[in-house]
Amino acid sequence: MKAPRLFGTNGIRGLAGKEIDFALAFRVGSAFATLFPRYKMLVGMDGRISSPVLLEGVAAGLLARGNDVEDLGLITTPALEYLVKNTSSSAGVMITASHNPPEYNGFKVVDSDGIEINRSKEEKMELLIHRDKWRASRQPGQRVRKEDGIKSYLEKVETHVLPRDEIRDLKIVIDTGNGVAELTTPRLLRKLGAHVIGINDAIDGKFPGRNSEPRPENLGALSRIVREEKADLGIAHDGDGDRAIFVDEKGIVQPGDRTLALIEDELLRDHPGARVVTPINTSMVVSEIASKRKGKLMLTKVGSIEVSRTVAKVGALLGGEENGGIFYAPHHPVRDGTIAAVLIVNTMIKNGRSLSKLLDGLPKFYMVKEKIPCKEGAKNRAIKALKARLKGRISSNLDGVRVDLDGRGWVLIRASGTEPLLRIYVEAKTESQVQEILDEFRPLVLKAVT
Ligand code: MG
Repeated sequence: MKAPRLFGTNGIRGLAGKEIDFALAFRVGSAFATLFPRYKMLVGMDGRISSPVLLEGVAAGLLARGNDVEDLGLITTPALEYLVKNTSSSAGVMITASHNPPEYNGFKVVDSDGIEINRSKEEKMELLIHRDKWRASRQPGQRVRKEDGIKSYLEKVETHVLPRDEIRDLKIVIDTGNGVAELTTPRLLRKLGAHVIGINDAIDGKFPGRNSEPRPENLGALSRIVREEKADLGIAHDGDGDRAIFVDEKGIVQPGDRTLALIEDELLRDHPGARVVTPINTSMVVSEIASKRKGKLMLTKVGSIEVSRTVAKVGALLGGEENGGIFYAPHHPVRDGTIAAVLIVNTMIKNGRSLSKLLDGLPKFYMVKEKIPCKEGAKNRAIKALKARLKGRISSNLDGVRVDLDGRGWVLIRASGTEPLLRIYVEAKTESQVQEILDEFRPLVLKAVT
């Protein structure tokens, strides 16, 4: 029997109080305990209004099945994941809907290695939740409150900062978007002596300052304040602190794959031959830097768990996504916004140059993304039709269809994991080449969805 899907690309998410309520939280806790008997369970939450009740539900489910619970309270997702990795025989649940609007909430379920559970464990949990069948326990577990989780996480993150005095000359504007990253990045950079200006810096589950997703259209205030304050850098995080987007000293919001390429360039210089992992929709700038620096690039399906698990499996040094996800294995191979901030600051002080100058040194490409509506049930059929139509030209079937057009660029057509549509990505060296490629492939996609 197949249980209905609860997990999306990144944990379980939905409308709080409606789809995601105390009763579901209790069942998630119970199912997780049944899957990981006797493990110590670390639970933490983001700043959403609905998070404390959901944390109680998860904790009650875990305790009822006999698991001990360590309650970390307010924390970022990467900090919880790091603590799970470093606590023996433990696993964890983070109450968060990441960058979703305030009325949402959800659960990220973390395996004993500190990385979100894989597909097969998700399916096992779904089945348990669906059947409402749990491991019996005569004795409930014990619950303790752990106050210093963030502190030990930050102590470890600090070891990745280049010990240079120049950090004190940096003026940095940080926009945590009223999220829990307020507990990590600003705290660390202030401690190191940087001049930090915070905006949207009160943790508030209603996200009054801005939309929680760090996209250019939501970062107008950050850009303006970076310019007004003549700051060196702007940093924006999402609601649970696993992503970071950077603004250069001119106030320009930089795409995540360009800052990824900059970090890659810097790290590969010191670690020639190292592996780098990125999803198949990432800009060519990342592959160009890999070949220039003799790094080994591996492509994955789109999704942070895919990148995370691949980085861990192949022993890569770095992973990254275009949305501002950076996975740095020497710390922990999960998406971590604070580590991303540290790596960018390291690169700036090591090279003694502004962020805009450093990014200007990278090869330039143009990318467009288009959405083509396609009914949920028709997506697979459309991709199949495209595969047949493009037979002989396909360079990858990893996630949808990708065609590399020698020298000119590439096109990727894939089914959205969350919405009723197909996505077309096109990247090339010039804008007119992008247009040409789009003009060639868009009609094929339109034909495939009808
Ligand atoms: Mg997030």
